[in-house]
This record gives sequence, structure tokens and C-alpha cells, in this order.
Amino acid sequence: MVKKGEMLYVSTTDAGLAKKAECGGAVSGLLKFALESKAVDAVLAVKKGVDLYEAIPTLISDPKDIDNTAGSLHCGTVLMSKLVANYAPYMKGKKLGVVVKGCDMMGFLELAKRNKVNLDNVFMIGVNCGGSVSPVLARKMIREKFGVDPDTVVKEEIDKGQFIIKMADGSHKGISIDELEESGYGRRSNCRRCKVKVPRQADIACGNWGVIGDKAGKVTFVEVCSDKGADLVTKAAAAKKIAVEPANPKGIEIRAKVEASMYKLADKWRKRDFAELSPVLWETIKTETARCTKCYACIDKCPVCFPVEDKFKNGGTTMVRPGTLPVDPMFHLRRFAHISDSCINCGQCEECCPMEIPLALFSHAIRTEEDAFFEPKLGKAAYTN
Ligand SMILES: Cc1cc2nc3c(=O)[nH]c(=O)nc-3n(C[C@H](O)[C@H](O)[C@H](O)COP(=O)(O)OP(=O)(O)OC[C@H]3O[C@@H](n4cnc5c(N)ncnc54)[C@H](O)[C@@H]3O)c2cc1C
Repeated sequence: MVKKGEMLYVSTTDAGLAKKAECGGAVSGLLKFALESKAVDAVLAVKKGVDLYEAIPTLISDPKDIDNTAGSLHCGTVLMSKLVANYAPYMKGKKLGVVVKGCDMMGFLELAKRNKVNLDNVFMIGVNCGGSVSPVLARKMIREKFGVDPDTVVKEEIDKGQFIIKMADGSHKGISIDELEESGYGRRSNCRRCKVKVPRQADIACGNWGVIGDKAGKVTFVEVCSDKGADLVTKAAAAKKIAVEPANPKGIEIRAKVEASMYKLADKWRKRDFAELSPVLWETIKTETARCTKCYACIDKCPVCFPVEDKFKNGGTTMVRPGTLPVDPMFHLRRFAHISDSCINCGQCEECCPMEIPLALFSHAIRTEEDAFFEPKLGKAAYTN
């Protein structure tokens, strides 16, 4: 019987699924079993869209459709939690399995605090996340840094600190993420600053870090984070849907070291990004937000922002008068004051802003500063979000 806290190597026993999966197919195998055994009524995952730079959220109730979602889309920047919040009123007590990166998981926790989702009805299968790459920038990066037509790429992956692309003829090319990021490409800036690499508040956390030796690429490293997670893994193993063995102790050690080095890297990026704002943050915000067109995408996508719709968009307030541009600077300042204490640094506001205003940077900087105020011992850059 599997227990909370255990570290495991897990693989699906479904050969077809194993071929499509990113590592050992633990995530897809467990989701399929959860549907088959009626532990959940539906699963929310992502599948490839028109190309591998597009990740489309998909709601699944037929277990065989899970096969279409296997594999990692590193250019998939969708946030699952806000989607679920929008549809939660229609769930009516039904149970949902959902694949969560660190930001998705934090989004769910923030929604639960606001009574927007009932976590008893959500099964969170976490995937470790070193960061995702914006789809538009990924295409540009592949063309300009790799010298390859992005449409000829059949698979991308992130492995051993490299972004690797594979072409239809079987050739592949990798460039170190550090090098890409030094030249303005690579992971989204919020992901670089993120310190939730292993989503331990999900029910299980799955990844490839710590899988070593002949198991590399063949199994998924699973950290069991809740009793609910332990129960699902136990039952799926008993039904022979997954194969489970204890993780290699050396692998556990390596995984911890990689995670620690990712925290250091995130601190480096925080220092660098936040230094550019200091000491004129409010002036910078005013200048940058002046080009806002009031499309409200930042509000629609934010997992912690739920303004009163009518007052905000239709009738308007003194700060948000419909049809008036440029936007009153107080609109954004007030929004930051409202959300920044719970900002999860998911980057959706910035990702979806058509005017490329660095909204996530501002919000994350304010959050980090506030945390340092309440927890001075942690220091400015040490918040774990
Ligand atoms: C952007 C990203 C970065 C990652 N970085 C790391 C890392 O640095 N270290 C590490 O150990 N592991 C990382 N992973 C996790 C790893 O790639 C595998 O997802 C994990 O090991 C599970 O493997 P599996 O074979 O069990 O998954 P599979 O059975 O192949 O299932 C993968 C699941 O992930 C979902 N998924 C794919 N792309 C996304 C996305 N963009 N957003 C949300 N869900 C998605 C799919 O819908 C599917 O359900 C990352 C994953 C992603 C998506």
C-alpha cells in the first residue's frame, strides 16, 4: 500500500499510451484509471492544437481519449485553474481530475480560498515544471537561434538544461536554456522567477528529475503528496494499470539538488528583474500601463481577480470609464493593490496582454516586497511562490 510522502518510479502498463507519454506515462495512466474506476467524472488536460506550439485545454469523460493528451507541451502556457473556476458552477458536485503545473496548483488554492472551487471535488495530478516558453517567442527562437523553420519541428523537449527540437528526418538540435535566455529567448520571464517547481500541494507530483540509469525516459518520478493521491496510486497498481517501484535513493538525492539549483536560478532572475524596477516602481507602472487599451484580458485570465462585472466593464467606475483612453493610471494601480497580495506569478496577465505591458513583473515585484515586509527573515527574494 502506497503512503503519502513516498517517492516512486511509476510507469503505465498500457503499451500504446507509453509510446505517446513524455516519461513513463504515470500521469496519463492514472488519469485513465481514475476515469475507468469512476474516481473522477471527467478529466481536464491539454492536447496539441494546430501545431506543437499550441496547447488546447480538453475536457474528457471517455478514458480512451486520454491517449490524445499524453506528452508535454512546453509551449503550452494555458492556466487550468481559471478555466475550472469559470465552469465550476456547472460541475454540481461532479469530480474532476486535472493536470496541474505549479501555477495551476496555486491558482486552485487561491480559488478555493474564494469559494470558487471545492477542492474535495478536484483531483490534482501535478507535473513538475521548470518553466514554459511562449508560443510566439518559441517560433521566433527556433527560426532565429536554431536556424530551423518552426513548422518542420515534430517534437520539442527540455532535457538536461537544453531546449531540444526534433525534425521529421530524425535529426535534432539542442541549445542550452541559459544561452537562450541570455539572448532574450527561452522560458517566460515569470517562469524564470518561479520557485514552485514541484507542485507538492497537488495530490501527486510527477516529473523526470531523479529518474536515473536504465530507467531514464522510461518511468515517471512520482512524489505522493496526499492521502487521496496515495489511494489512487495504490488502486491503480492493484488493478495493474501502472507499475510501481521505490525511486532510486541516488535519484532522490539528484532530484533534490536539481530543485535547489532551480531555486537559486529563480533568485538570480528575481534580483535581475526587480532591480530594473527599483526605486521607481510606481513611475514605471504609470509609464508602461499608459498604452493599455482596456481589453481586460489581464482581468479575465487572472486566477485571483474577480471584479464585479457590471460595475467594472459596463457601467464603469470613475477609474474605468468605458470608451475613454488613455486609461486612468489608477485603474492599474488599484488593480495591483487589489490582487498583488495573492499574485501567484502565473504570468497570464502579461502573456495575454496585446500591448505587451509587463504586468506580471509588476504584480510579482509587489507581492515579493509585501512578503518580505511580513516575513523579513526571508528577505526580498526568498518567497517560495
Ligand atoms: C511546461 C512543462 C515543463 C516541465 N518541466 C519539467 C522539469 O523541469 N522537470 C521535471 O521533472 N518535469 C518537468 N515537466 C514534467 C514532465 O515533462 C512530464 O510531464 C512528467 O514527468 C509526467 O510524465 P508522464 O509520462 O507521466 O506524463 P504523460 O503521461 O505524458 O502526461 C502528461 C500530461 O501533461 C499534460 N500537459 C502537457 N503539457 C502541458 C502544459 N503545458 N500545461 C499543463 N498540462 C500539460 C498533458 O495533458 C498530459 O495530461 C514539465 C512539464 C511541462 C508541461
